[in-house]
Amino acid sequence: MLLTETVSGTLFLMRERLWAPWRLQYVSNAGKTESEGCIFCTKPAEQQDAENLILWRSTYCFALLNLYPYTSGHTMVAPYRHTADIADLTPDESLDLWQLMQKCVRAIQQVYKPDGFNIGFNLGRAAGAGIEGHLHLHIVPRWHGDTNFMTTIGEVRVLPESLEQTYARLKTAFEEAMRDGRTD
Ligand SMILES: [Zn+2]
Repeated sequence: MLLTETVSGTLFLMRERLWAPWRLQYVSNAGKTESEGCIFCTKPAEQQDAENLILWRSTYCFALLNLYPYTSGHTMVAPYRHTADIADLTPDESLDLWQLMQKCVRAIQQVYKPDGFNIGFNLGRAAGAGIEGHLHLHIVPRWHGDTNFMTTIGEVRVLPESLEQTYARLKTAFEEAMRDGRTD
């Protein structure tokens, strides 16, 4: 079950598995075929970053918000190159992806002040990858007690802000960090 208001709404309600929050993406993409396109290829090619919730572009990778966030601030980093093989990333791509992940962590820390993070890849459908053809790294801010809260209300989570609000806040944090010359 996946209940959402419109993307522009102020409330998301969703059911998820606590141990693999990004499996929701599998739900959202169930039934689609490869021919309908890979979002990690099509979104950066469209040059509509705000509409596509792309927060930042680096040389080899880009960061974007997850359409079905587990928590506010749930961000993903992916290489532009369409590959599912993590061992296939070049040294330049690997470093760029890692550094962009670090920038995302800093921006999320600054804006949301989470107590912790889950950061990781789901490689392959068996591991829960929603879009298995294109590598993407999930960055999920966490707070003490957030799982307890979700258990209490029956795996339904309420996010307190819209994706557009999250985008605006994190985009500002990225821009301020770049303007100040901070790279950490
Ligand atoms: Zn792709």
